[in-house]
Amino acid sequence: MSIQFFYEKNLEGVANSVKRKQEQYRKIVRHLYYNDATSIAGIVKAVHISQPLVASLVDDLIGYGMLLDSGVGESIGGRRPNLFCINPDYQYVIGVEINLHTLNLAVFDLSNNQIQKEEIKYFDLEDSEEYLLALVEMIEMLISKLDVPKERYLSIGVSIPGLVDAKLGLSYTHLSVAANGLANYLAERIGLNVLLDNDARIMALGEKAFGKAIDKENVLCLNLTNGIGLGMILNGELHSGKNGFAGEFGHIPIEPNGELCHCGKIGCLETLTSGKVLVQNVKKAMEKGQPTILAQYQKEGKKIDLRSVVEAIKAEDQFAIDQLNQICEYLGKGLVTLIHLLNPEMVIIGGRMAHTGKYVLDPVRMSMNKYAMRRISSETEIVCSDLLDNAALMGTMANVMRIALNLD
Ligand SMILES: [Zn+2]
Repeated sequence: MSIQFFYEKNLEGVANSVKRKQEQYRKIVRHLYYNDATSIAGIVKAVHISQPLVASLVDDLIGYGMLLDSGVGESIGGRRPNLFCINPDYQYVIGVEINLHTLNLAVFDLSNNQIQKEEIKYFDLEDSEEYLLALVEMIEMLISKLDVPKERYLSIGVSIPGLVDAKLGLSYTHLSVAANGLANYLAERIGLNVLLDNDARIMALGEKAFGKAIDKENVLCLNLTNGIGLGMILNGELHSGKNGFAGEFGHIPIEPNGELCHCGKIGCLETLTSGKVLVQNVKKAMEKGQPTILAQYQKEGKKIDLRSVVEAIKAEDQFAIDQLNQICEYLGKGLVTLIHLLNPEMVIIGGRMAHTGKYVLDPVRMSMNKYAMRRISSETEIVCSDLLDNAALMGTMANVMRIALNLD
């Protein structure tokens, strides 16, 4: 099932001329989606189509309801020009963020606003038919909350942890019960196009479209939650590799005599520095009776997990900050390898750990100062995401529009 804008479903005529017209419409829609309201002259300049043809295509698109006349702009000599923009309510996109223990869903309009959002706190990712049925039910429930006919949804963008082949819509790590792939399963049940990709890559797309990677060409986006995910924007494009497995940064071997990783190998970076390791270390040290606000949290019945450890760090708990510092040494060291290889202009730390802000940035920078070649690393900015927990959902929207507006 390919992505089609609603008006494209009813274009009539000879196949070749329909295709050409479709491309011309898309060029205009693409320009207006990625830019502010634009005059006919501005569109002509951007899409390299003649003025009379642009005027007629824009007229058509207004007729279909895809574009709106958004008033008059500044004059550049002569009459003030009319401006045109995308009609935000022409169609909607559904974003689904599958996490190991939670599920987040949103509906976006074509101005990228979340007009409906659901956060399901307890939704453990299990390889079972029941999980798939519950997932479909949640998406159908979201759709039923808005008074929008199904054909007005452009696509469902899905993000999931682990190894994903985005072209086949297949998760290799989770939900193997969906025999033809998760994307096909959902598309058949719900009757809409579905685009699936790995969470770290989706978050990188979110950062590129809406976060700190806007206008940047080479950016590494880390998803530091329980594991370590990596999404790479290289030369302005998402880098996926041959099968879409690029970015398994957490599983590069570091410590030959180290711990067994959940991937089956020994001493992966993730076994030395990740949210999971941080929580393990915190628990071990607490057993020895180290004074910390976390002991207080525990008395109040709170679980010691990444969420509560991050909360303690933000509350300036010396013990928790110490524990974070320790794992950041390895993270910085690992990042140096990436920076030496790829020379990015920016590294964005996202995921749960990004909530600690300077507490994660400072020790990572210190470790990098120690291990990196200064000439290379001094050109790389390291920052925390400002999209934070919204990065993956925003990324599903960015991914759908990137593919819907692809011109080739
Ligand atoms: Zn591993």
